[in-house]
Amino acid sequence: MAISVFFSLIIYRGAAFELQRIETIQTQRRPMIGGPPVLDPEIIKETKRRIMFSLFATNVIILGLSAGSGYFLAGKTLEPIRKNMEEQKKFIGSASHELRTPLTSLKTEIEVGLRDKKFTAIAARKILVSNFEEVNKMQKLSDYLLRLNRLESGKNVFGMSKVDLKKVAIKAIGKRRVISDLEKSVVLGNEDALSELVGILIDNAFKYSPNGNSITVRVKNKQIEVSDKGIGIPKSDLPYIFDRFYRSDKSRTKDGYGLGLSIAKQIADLHGAKIIVESKLCMGSTFKVIFG
Ligand code: ADP
Repeated sequence: MAISVFFSLIIYRGAAFELQRIETIQTQRRPMIGGPPVLDPEIIKETKRRIMFSLFATNVIILGLSAGSGYFLAGKTLEPIRKNMEEQKKFIGSASHELRTPLTSLKTEIEVGLRDKKFTAIAARKILVSNFEEVNKMQKLSDYLLRLNRLESGKNVFGMSKVDLKKVAIKAIGKRRVISDLEKSVVLGNEDALSELVGILIDNAFKYSPNGNSITVRVKNKQIEVSDKGIGIPKSDLPYIFDRFYRSDKSRTKDGYGLGLSIAKQIADLHGAKIIVESKLCMGSTFKVIFG
């Protein structure tokens, strides 16, 4: 706007100067008989007014356009920040909610114990066992939150080197009984992080398969696949299962915070890998991690 006003002033002064010059020349030539036709001074004044009006109108239009486009562009630039803040708010809300549940349970049990005048060692032990479970849950949640935070904080969270996915799968399977079909396949990555990723997928396969049978882990062509014949995931939930704290209604009977797949996705993203899910309700699910 300042630039536009500045140039408008220059244009106006230049034009006014030229008109003044024409007026002066005319005044000097007026006595000459047979000179050029005399220009009415009113026309010169009118021309100056018109130039001033045009410049003023141009500046008003520029002001309107720059204000409008500024508002639009600022909105566009701030949109990701606004989204991010909303996500953070939602995240803090969900995390506090998940922490409240075991805390409330801990508090209630301790209160009941303290009020009981005939508190026996057996009753105390029962409460301690239950409290221990709740503390374990809170510890797991805080571990998940710390892990997510670390993974989301940047790219250089772990070193990369050549890793054999077969070795990764063997480490992730551990002592669990699965059907395995593992071929050597080397990718650039971090062995511990990738084992953690595959471990999350195997944990879920066991958790969401009522009988725990037929869980298969395959490694082939820079690809790891974990499949089960469990409860499956409803089609409507599939786009959200990698969101933080998202849990399908069907899986709420099982312990969990809805953070495992978010961590798995973060690890895959940091490796430039994709996670693809195929699932059919009551038939089972297959998670594929594909490296580029
Ligand atoms: P959690 O298992 O703790 O709920 P995750 O982030 O690991 O959290 O998984 C998110 C959701 O995705 C689960 O709640 C469940 O609904 C669904 N899910 C993930 N893996 C499977 C699976 N193998 N079979 C069925 N549902 C699954």
